[in-house]
Amino acid sequence: MLLAVPGKRTFAIHTVKIEPSGSDFVFEVPDAWLDAALEACDASPAGRPGEVAVNVSPISPGYYLTGTIHVHLGAACARCLRTAALDLSVPFKVHMTPGTPEPRDDVETVAEDGSLGTAHFQGEEMVLDSLVRESIVLALPMNPHCPEGCSIEDLYRDED
Ligand SMILES: [Zn+2]
Repeated sequence: MLLAVPGKRTFAIHTVKIEPSGSDFVFEVPDAWLDAALEACDASPAGRPGEVAVNVSPISPGYYLTGTIHVHLGAACARCLRTAALDLSVPFKVHMTPGTPEPRDDVETVAEDGSLGTAHFQGEEMVLDSLVRESIVLALPMNPHCPEGCSIEDLYRDED
């Protein structure tokens, strides 16, 4: 039995809660968790709670997970350098199979080309923390821009 690492099990699904026909789960994404997850990134939580919605279906072996991660972030706009709102909606699909997790606790989830990521879980609990973190980090734009548009002129205007 592995000891729970504090802060590592925000998104955990106990397999006993999964119906044979599949079950839906919704998690709130706490700001503190998001803050830690984005530690190495240029984006930061915007202060509104995010959400992870996931449908879990048993397949043999393991479970097939499809879901969407919604988070509200802020990042410096590459054009005007103000904080641009970044509302991410990141789909994911992953096949969780029983087994030993990889030494590096990253998870391959592929949303862009639709192919299926795979991950392992141990015991009766699937922990999605690294999946959620990786998915968010991979979805961050390289050059965020103000969604409502802006121009280089805004650099020289007052903040209001
Ligand atoms: Zn801008």
